[in-house]
Amino acid sequence: MAECIFCKIIKGDIPSKKVYEDDAVLAFDDISPMAPVHVIIIPKKHIATLLDVDTNADIMGRWMAAAQQVAKMKQVADSGFRLAINCNADGGQVVFHLHMHLLGGRKLEDPLG
Ligand code: AMP
Ligand code: ZN
Repeated sequence: MAECIFCKIIKGDIPSKKVYEDDAVLAFDDISPMAPVHVIIIPKKHIATLLDVDTNADIMGRWMAAAQQVAKMKQVADSGFRLAINCNADGGQVVFHLHMHLLGGRKLEDPLG
């Protein structure tokens, strides 16, 4: 997916502040952070949305394990953090390469209002 911004980050064509990497997952600081800790965690395989994961289910465990690692590395595991996955237009998805946001480092507002 040559035009995908996150695939370009994986390839190194766009710079990023890498937080965690293994053979299946990459995590990097969000370019426009909403909290003191705001990390984007992506599977290296291009998957457009959460709706497209069913045939890639093996990746999901790796993806979630990486999120645990990132929380520990960013030292928000004990204080607390939030994982968020936006899906499609009403969910606020802007980049169509599956990603989760890891947010922490401050008291987060209640997303359910
Ligand atoms: P979403 O609305 O869930 O699709 O979120 C996309 C996220 O990607 C936003 O929080 C952006 O700030 C972030 N983002 C976009 N481009 C970059 C980039 N080049 N490096 C890091 N984060 C990015
Ligand atoms: Zn991609």
